[in-house]
Amino acid sequence: MIVTLEPDAPESRAEAVVRLAARYPGVSVQKFVFRGESISITEVHLIGSTRAVPTEPFESLPGVRKVVRVSRKYRLIGRHHPDAETHGFEYNGVQFDEKRVHVFAGLCAVDTREHVAKMMAALEQAGIRTTRMGAYKPRTSPYDFQGLGKACLPWVFELAGKHGIKVIAMEVTDARHIDEINTSLAAAGDPTGVMLQIGTRNTQNFELLKQVGQQKRFPVLFKRGMGISLEESLNACEYVASEGNPNIVFCLRGVKTHLGDPHRNLVDFSHVPVVRRQTRLPVCIDPSHAVGRMDNAPDGLPDIFHVVGQGIIAGASMVLIDFHPRPDEALCDGPQALELSTLPRFARYVESVRLAYAGIIRELGAAAAPPPASSSEPSAA
Ligand code: PEP
Ligand code: MN
Repeated sequence: MIVTLEPDAPESRAEAVVRLAARYPGVSVQKFVFRGESISITEVHLIGSTRAVPTEPFESLPGVRKVVRVSRKYRLIGRHHPDAETHGFEYNGVQFDEKRVHVFAGLCAVDTREHVAKMMAALEQAGIRTTRMGAYKPRTSPYDFQGLGKACLPWVFELAGKHGIKVIAMEVTDARHIDEINTSLAAAGDPTGVMLQIGTRNTQNFELLKQVGQQKRFPVLFKRGMGISLEESLNACEYVASEGNPNIVFCLRGVKTHLGDPHRNLVDFSHVPVVRRQTRLPVCIDPSHAVGRMDNAPDGLPDIFHVVGQGIIAGASMVLIDFHPRPDEALCDGPQALELSTLPRFARYVESVRLAYAGIIRELGAAAAPPPASSSEPSAA
């Protein structure tokens, strides 16, 4: 059972809920505060034998906005009632929520200092403050480039600071990598921030999920598992939140099946509205690992642009995308990397689609149209 307080409710309101909950045997209590851009929401979760606990006494407490019964599923990341806000969070001066779109354009894998410098200079020029830089690369073959690891962190962070980059999405495949990032950032004087990426291959590496969940310094970019159901991925994502870190973005990146040929994966951005409805997490799309190649449609736009459009028009609020100053020289995933000269055009494309989305929602969205009569989709709660 979740008791949600009115926005910015004082601590005493939450304490009253906790005191009341303590009267019921077999019930334990956890309190969560979600800090959005302008308001904070406190939730008190009643866990255990809550079947016999009535909702009315909680509903009549002052400052209580809503009481909902939830199953164990998606207790923390779930959108338990339709008007629940998306969990926004702020990190290193960047606000993550559904109100804006962030483009994390960058190198799939850090290779040379020169390439990183060129990438970041191009981002600065395009007014983009977020990037992706892989230092620890999980590869299918042990003989492929594994990433430069902690050796590259000092100069990647230094260059990020120089070019005004605020957040770098960086995959970690072992808890040790979190410490290395922490230490390197501190040694460099915290010139930038890092969002810890959980790759599709580690979606169900539960020990790693617990580790990224137990630290609160870095937010988490959680990538959907490529060969498991969406429900399994969301359950895995709940591990991160249940360990104490609610600052998560959920990323769709395509699923593995030959039915997606000739693309690398079958693009799954039709799940953007599903994830938005079932959870309160901002949703990211990764068109590069979904499409995996550089072909143009007859209209002149790369397939990668077109799938970005599908995600943004469905309400995605972050794009993780591979660029490279010399795709032919990239040590990882060069065939799917866009060239730097395409970056301004890509930024304009994202802006145009986002504007189209805003216009469509204004004209045809919930505020404009009556709600649908019914839905047969099982509720996440
Ligand atoms: C990546 O983003 O670099 C990556 C390896 O993606 P995924 O885990 O989705 O394959
Ligand atoms: Mn890659």
